[in-house]
Amino acid sequence: MPVDPIAIARDLLRCPSVTPAEGGALALIEKTLAAAGFAVDRVTFAEPGTAPVENLYARIGTVGPHLVFAGHTDVVPPGEEARWRHKPFAGEIADGMLFGRGAVDMKGGIACMIAAALDHLAAHRGRPNGSISFLITGDEEGIAVNGSVKLLKWAAARGEKFDHCILGEPTSSKALGDTVKIGRRGSLNGTLIVTGMEGHVAYPALADNPVRRIIAIMSAITAEPLDGGSAHFDPSNLEFTSVDVGNTTVNVIPREARARFNIRFNDHHNQASLKALIEARADAAALGGDFRIDWEPSNADAVLTTPGPFVDLVADAIDELTGLPPLLSTSGGTSDARFIKNYCPVVEFGLVNETMHKIDERVATADLATLTAIYRRILERYFGSAAA
Ligand SMILES: [Zn+2]
Repeated sequence: MPVDPIAIARDLLRCPSVTPAEGGALALIEKTLAAAGFAVDRVTFAEPGTAPVENLYARIGTVGPHLVFAGHTDVVPPGEEARWRHKPFAGEIADGMLFGRGAVDMKGGIACMIAAALDHLAAHRGRPNGSISFLITGDEEGIAVNGSVKLLKWAAARGEKFDHCILGEPTSSKALGDTVKIGRRGSLNGTLIVTGMEGHVAYPALADNPVRRIIAIMSAITAEPLDGGSAHFDPSNLEFTSVDVGNTTVNVIPREARARFNIRFNDHHNQASLKALIEARADAAALGGDFRIDWEPSNADAVLTTPGPFVDLVADAIDELTGLPPLLSTSGGTSDARFIKNYCPVVEFGLVNETMHKIDERVATADLATLTAIYRRILERYFGSAAA
């Protein structure tokens, strides 16, 4: 009897695991994987000023190749519960859809990974031809400091070596299998601060208006594209999100003006090169005037897993089971792939993301079956061929 991913997904959806609450979700995964022979560790990470968060690591097998499934059991809050057609933590099925917060992001995906792994083990006398692991965090939707970053470090410290990772985030956009993410853009925030000299608006010669200068600097920063895109990425983009002077009067030239911005950047840049580029553009437009840029710390560099045998293996499995060759994408926001990429190549693939973070988040039960079959095919190929 194949393992039923729908039953596992339902049980997971009934665990109210809004970040940072564990909600019973990791306990359920622990029980399920331990029963199949996985060695399971539950680890809690904390740091001053943040809520402690529980995480889970499970492994079966002692040798390579080592394939790790990664994901998160925490979910965003349900929002107005009264607006849900079915209660957000009830795991109800109606018209072939399983409803609940986390249905696609990403308890459904985790259920499929577990079902696929257990089916694979059952078909191979309980042992993989290598190692299968689960790296499950409870801190992805929150500030993400007590989750994957620390869990990966913890695993590396005990000698865990991963060869490849599949992160089960909901990457499909319209139909299951239409999109795989082979990378993610980096993200960097900054504030441009221009300082002048305050004064009476009727005596501009006695003042130095920072508003004039911030306009010139902002224009200079955005006048030219940051790059022309790369083989797998769109061009990098800088977007100003706020311009602030905070002036409540009409007859005073202010002393300071600020503008906040975010940059989504591709593999042409790292944070240092990007900062240098923006500062040089600002400098040229400032004409010696006083300005500075405060950069926020960022742990989101650009991620890319270059297409090759592993990406092909995943894409082929999807194509075979859906009849759809997936788009290899690097779009969207950041994900835990930014941390995993420091340990092994990572490909993200999972359910249709249309309803994630929304009221009535839901997944077609047929998609859970198909995704399980795809993960199962990936395991079969990975441990059965030289591609690993
Ligand atoms: Zn997610």
